[in-house]
Amino acid sequence: MAEAVTTQSVFLPGPVLLLGAPGVGKGTQAQALMEEFGMPQISTGDLLRENRRLHTPLGLLADELMNKGQLVPDNLVNGMVDARLAAPDTQRGYILDGFPRTLQQAAWLDDFIGMQRHEPADQNPSAPQPSPVEKLPVVAILISVPEQVLLERITGRRISPAGRIYNVYTNPAKVDGICDVDGSPLVQRKDDTEAVFYERMKAFAEKTADVIEYYRSHGERFAEVKGDQAVASVTAAIRSTLLRLRHADGS
Ligand code: AMP
Repeated sequence: MAEAVTTQSVFLPGPVLLLGAPGVGKGTQAQALMEEFGMPQISTGDLLRENRRLHTPLGLLADELMNKGQLVPDNLVNGMVDARLAAPDTQRGYILDGFPRTLQQAAWLDDFIGMQRHEPADQNPSAPQPSPVEKLPVVAILISVPEQVLLERITGRRISPAGRIYNVYTNPAKVDGICDVDGSPLVQRKDDTEAVFYERMKAFAEKTADVIEYYRSHGERFAEVKGDQAVASVTAAIRSTLLRLRHADGS
């Protein structure tokens, strides 16, 4: 515990991308990193579900696509992420979970981060100066899990209203259907069915696999972590990878 506090106070995580197919555990791992490093998890799936719950125009449009396991158009998702990254809680860093999912989204993120990093600070001295995190490049971590394991992960997933993630096969709640932490009823996401799983995997293979190759070949800081092991072991592997990649050249 003391170590976690120390790590959080001295370590600046910067922008972190968690990449991987549906069900590899991006959300679970993002929540663990969020607690340890004191930076927000920004899940585009969660943001879209929140829009859907609030019946915003974006939520209404996204609903049908999400139910079918298809991707929401890039410009809408990029705009949503743009607005979220403007919030002050991203000052130490943030974990993007489920974004970017297309090469177009990756290009948008490159531009966004590039603009922050290379904006000359002295041209307009009265303008707000960039925070330290705005100078850090992206660290991309791919969580990989064999495809046959993913179906069980997806169909077994249950979620509490506060967003805590369980799995009836691999990480069950103590009392079936009830959140261990706050006693609320667990629900299954509408798109966590076998039929929609295959559609989501298709979208992943057609669009997101290229994004992974993009970061693997161009990213200055890319690493792959095996996600087919105990949740805590995956967290430990991501944690040490993040520390190693960030400290490799002092950034
Ligand atoms: P997730 O919670 O990440 O599994 O996302 C659930 C659904 O939200 C996906 O199947 C897509 O329909 C939509 N979605 C989430 N993130 C994105 C994104 N970056 N680009 C396009 N659609 C997305």
